[in-house]
Amino acid sequence: MAITLTQQIQERAHELGFELVGITPAQESQTIQRYKQWIANGYAGEMGYLQRHLPLKEDPRTLLQEAKSIISLAMNYYTVDPSEALTKEPGRGQISRYAWGDDYHDVIRERLLHLVEFIKNTGETKLKSRVFVDSGPILEREYAQKAKLGWIGKNTNLINWRTGSWYFLAEVLVSIDLDYDLPPLIGSCGSCTKCIEACPTDAIIEPNLLDSRLCISYLTIELKNSIPKELRPKMGNLIFGCDICQEVCPWNSKAIPTAEPAFRPRNGNLAPELLSLIGMTQAEFSKRFKGSPIKRAKRRGFLRNVIVAIGNWKSQAAIPALRNALSDDEPLIRRHAAWALGQIGGEDAKQVLKTCLETENDNDVITEIEDALHEIVGDGNLL
Ligand code: SF4
Ligand code: SF4
Repeated sequence: MAITLTQQIQERAHELGFELVGITPAQESQTIQRYKQWIANGYAGEMGYLQRHLPLKEDPRTLLQEAKSIISLAMNYYTVDPSEALTKEPGRGQISRYAWGDDYHDVIRERLLHLVEFIKNTGETKLKSRVFVDSGPILEREYAQKAKLGWIGKNTNLINWRTGSWYFLAEVLVSIDLDYDLPPLIGSCGSCTKCIEACPTDAIIEPNLLDSRLCISYLTIELKNSIPKELRPKMGNLIFGCDICQEVCPWNSKAIPTAEPAFRPRNGNLAPELLSLIGMTQAEFSKRFKGSPIKRAKRRGFLRNVIVAIGNWKSQAAIPALRNALSDDEPLIRRHAAWALGQIGGEDAKQVLKTCLETENDNDVITEIEDALHEIVGDGNLL
C-alpha cells in the first residue's frame, strides 16, 4: 500500500530528530478563555508580550490565513548530568537543563525549514507554511496535547506517556489537509502531587495553574528588574531557570538521553563556580554565551541571579567579588550585591557596605545597602 503524505511527513520529522509528531486541524483554540483569565489574574507578571499576542493566539489562522493543519513536534533535550554532585555544592550555580547546550531556537528552526522543504518536494509546490519554536504566538501545548504528543501535567508541562517531559515543542502550520487521528488520548497525573510539594516558591498554586511571578524560571530569565527580596532565599543556587518540578516527576524516570549533539552540555554550563561568573564583563558574557539560551537573561540579569546565589551561599570568600560588584555600572547588580553582603554578614561585609554607602547615589541601591546593614547589625550600632 502506498505511503500517505501524512506518513511521509511523520517519517521525515523523525529523521530530522523529532521523537514526537502529531497532526491536528488548524482550528481556533479551545483553551484561550482560560489563558486570558490567567493573564487577567496577573499570573504572567511582566511578560507583556503574552498580553500583546493574545489576539493572535485565538486562532492559528490569524498567523497563516491559509492554514489547514498544524504539525506538532517535540525534540528531546534530556542529557545525563555527569556532575550531579557538583550542582549540590552551594559555591556553584545550577543552570536549567534546556540551557546546557546550544540555543534550541536555532537548532530546531533549521530542522523545521527542512521539513517544509521536504513537503514542497513531495509535489506540494504551492504550499504556504509558517514555523514556530517556542517563541511564536500559538498555544502550543494545547495543540500538542490534541495531537497526542502527551498531556499537560499538574506542573503545566506536556508529559509524554513513554518518555516524560524533557522536550522542546515546535509547530509547522501548513496550507494542506492531512490525516488527523482524533480525539486526543487523556493522560493523568492521578493522585500525584510531587511537583506541587517540591516547588521551592509554591508557584504551582493549584494543579495545572502556575503563578509565573513566583516561578524561579520567570525570576531568573524573564524578569528584567529586581527579584523580590522574600523570594531570593528560596532560589538557592539556581542561576538560570529551574527544573525541580520536572526532576521530581515520576514520568521523567523513563527519560532517555537525546541523540542530538547540540543539546549536550557545553563546557562551563554544568555547575559553574559562582565566583568565576560574577566578574564577567559584557564582552566576556557575550563571548561565553554566544549561541546559548543563557544570553536571553543579558549580563545584568544573569549576574543578578549569580549574586543572589552567592547571597544564599553565605561564604565570606565572596566578599571581595561583591565589593567589586558594588561598583558595577548597573544599579541592578549593585542592589543585589548589597543584599548578598547582608546575607553573608560579619564585620568585613559591614565595612564594605558602609564604604559604598558614602559614594552611592542611586536611591534603590542606597535602600538595599541600608537594609543589608540592618540585616547584619539588627538593632545594634552601625558604626
Ligand atoms: Fe516551581 Fe521551579 Fe517548577 Fe517554577 S520551575 S514551578 S519554581 S519547581
Ligand atoms: Fe503530575 Fe506528579 Fe509529574 Fe506533577 S510530578 S506533573 S503531579 S505526575
